[in-house]
Amino acid sequence: MKLLVATGNQGKLKEIRRLLEGCGVVVVGLEQLENPPEVVEDGETFAANARKKAVQMAVFSDCLTLADDSGLVVAALNGAPGVHSARYAGEQGNDAANNVKLLQALTDVADEQRQAAFHCVMALAWPDGRCETFAGQVAGLIMRAERGAGGFGYDPLFMVPEYGKTMAELPLDIKNRISHRGTALRKVVPLLQELARQNG
Ligand code: IMP
Repeated sequence: MKLLVATGNQGKLKEIRRLLEGCGVVVVGLEQLENPPEVVEDGETFAANARKKAVQMAVFSDCLTLADDSGLVVAALNGAPGVHSARYAGEQGNDAANNVKLLQALTDVADEQRQAAFHCVMALAWPDGRCETFAGQVAGLIMRAERGAGGFGYDPLFMVPEYGKTMAELPLDIKNRISHRGTALRKVVPLLQELARQNG
């Protein structure tokens, strides 16, 4: 059974592919589509954006589609960057600039006030417009300087206290075990397995 994963973010696609190994679906990326529609992520919640992306792409591609919306929620910044995580510093997907802006925003915030969480909502949509959503979160602390070379986005600044390492220092398997995206995706897996079984 074919599953379109509607993300242009190669870091996310790599994580999702790994998490769906052995689940009976063939993961295809957006590069398989000719002229896919540009989905405007203007929702006020992760769920609204994930749902919008998944439904638009499923209807367009006529294929079961998984989309996620995710981001970083920082308590001392009243939840920012939140749904604006990918373009926090202005330019879409500029991870380096986003990290610089985050460090600046937290300069005067004490170590014990630097709690944050990554949030993810996965939306699974059918070509007829039906859609189901699944959420995951992981809690951590924002560092004062980047550490580690793995992952993407805010990973080098996101300390996972249980491991004493940033997300960017953890191997992909461990990141997937604890991450917001891993948690949300593991909730989708039983449904995908059932659909793959029904499709023979
Ligand atoms: P989206 O593509 O609209 O879901 O934007 C997600 C943005 O949130 C990314 O560009 C990153 O800045 C951030 N983000 C989401 N998940 C992660 C993660 O696992 N590690 C680091 N940053 C993440």
